Amino acid sequence: MKKLALLFGMIILLSQQVLLANGRERQDYKNMDSKTKQTLIQLAREARRTAYAPYSHYQVGSALLTNRGAIFQGCNVENASYGVGCCSERVAMFKAISEGVTDFVAIAVVTRDGGFPCGACRQVMNEFNPNMVVLIGDENGHLVKETTLSCLLPDAFGPHNLD
Ligand SMILES: [Zn+2]
Repeated sequence: MKKLALLFGMIILLSQQVLLANGRERQDYKNMDSKTKQTLIQLAREARRTAYAPYSHYQVGSALLTNRGAIFQGCNVENASYGVGCCSERVAMFKAISEGVTDFVAIAVVTRDGGFPCGACRQVMNEFNPNMVVLIGDENGHLVKETTLSCLLPDAFGPHNLD
């Protein structure tokens, strides 16, 4: 019985450490320096050039920053069978996930007019970090808006609902 109590104590301690780590992480990235923001916008702008968007002509580029400092780029990929295409944000996230990386902390999204991520992409972001920073840029590389996913997708349905 003592061993069981000790085990539960350790689990509680470990989960508190995870919460603390997440708290620090959020704080760090909320105060992201302007150089990092600009780098992400520029990399998203660069990724936008490879967009495959012959139908909408609405090119989108993304740059996804992970907690370890890795950056994954993505662009939108359309298809003659329209519904099969994928948004740039999800392409960037799926690239990272396919390499075993899910510790997303920020994403920059660049379009011609400073468009925001669609609902489906917001839902996928929420799966990994409801507090991730979202930077919106335009085709000239200007930071149009800085926000967080929890602002873009409040009261989200997520993994906790299935615990
Ligand atoms: Zn989307």
